[in-house]
Amino acid sequence: MIKFLDLKAVNQRYAEQIRVAVDRVLESGWYLLGAELEQYEVEYAAYCKTVHAVGVASGLDALILILRAYGLGPGDEIIIPANTYIATVLAVTNCGADPVFVEPDPCTHLIDPEKIEEKISKRTKAVMPVHLYGQLCNMKVICNLAGKHNLKVVEDAAQSHGAVCPEGKITADYPARAAGHSFYPSKNLGALADAGMITTNDGQLAEKIRALRNYGSCQRYYNKYLGINSRMDEMQAAILRVKLKGLDEDNVRRRRIASYYLEEIKNQKVVLPKPPVNPESHVWHLFVIRTRHRGSLQRHLEEKGIQTQIHYPVPPHKQECYAKYNGLSLPIAEQLANEVLSLPISPVIKEEDVLNIVRTINDWK
Ligand SMILES: *Cc1c(COP(=O)(O)O)cnc(C)c1O
Repeated sequence: MIKFLDLKAVNQRYAEQIRVAVDRVLESGWYLLGAELEQYEVEYAAYCKTVHAVGVASGLDALILILRAYGLGPGDEIIIPANTYIATVLAVTNCGADPVFVEPDPCTHLIDPEKIEEKISKRTKAVMPVHLYGQLCNMKVICNLAGKHNLKVVEDAAQSHGAVCPEGKITADYPARAAGHSFYPSKNLGALADAGMITTNDGQLAEKIRALRNYGSCQRYYNKYLGINSRMDEMQAAILRVKLKGLDEDNVRRRRIASYYLEEIKNQKVVLPKPPVNPESHVWHLFVIRTRHRGSLQRHLEEKGIQTQIHYPVPPHKQECYAKYNGLSLPIAEQLANEVLSLPISPVIKEEDVLNIVRTINDWK
């Protein structure tokens, strides 16, 4: 059986160092908002080349806290891609703001920057690009548009740890900009529980989020904002400090597998993802192919013991929880949801398994 993702094998590589890190926290007697998180925030900010990093309880919370810290809420519109994981949309609606869906570019599956401007209204306050599957959106174009219309830029970076934009910086110089990261166990950099992070160069925003994640308090028992409880615990911070050191190497492995798939999968019924112009701008969190005969291919792979997944079978605007958007027509996003299939890709997948997957797809009639 070739698993879609063997998380145990991913973490076994760090078992000894993780035990040391967990022991350190146990010995310290301090479990929340302590030295491990402080250190991890410094290390992760340096890794992302941003000035500030603030650890929180999850990727969804990271996005919600950015929107709340920017003061976005009822009456505001936020532009998001129609093709994304539900969390992007939940962040918007949790704040009481209205999502405005933009169709993806059918080649990259990312928000189509050409279609953003036509959706900007007087109520639009922010644009939320999602670096889906690990590939960066065209941030230059998006930040230029945002500047022109005075919008905040909130990046959903939950799938893109370590992706570097062509200008050589993860965060460019656009000032009203922050990114939400997730360390959900299956992400390229995953904890052993839920965890998330906000990165930004905006010092005021970072300070406000530090308070918001901790009951809105800057000083104990004095509450400045209506906050929430969303803190990354010391155990996860200590574990992530260990795993961050292996992230670049893991991403190199992912790129190597992606290149192999791109060169060797040859089946007329399969559409392969478009490789990025700059290889560094993609960390291949997912390797997503398309086919009109998805059910047949998924069954064929399953019969040969190969697990695949679908990211995502139902676009957010067609979800039951978003009944008020069910009537929207976003045909590109809807078509992708019907045709996408994710192949196994991970830093621990065996070479023979990758060969086997390629052979099995090429044999599919
Ligand atoms: C995983 C994910 C999130 C949410 O992260 P959690 O840590 O699970 O809350 C948000 N957006 C995208 C695109 C994701 O893949």
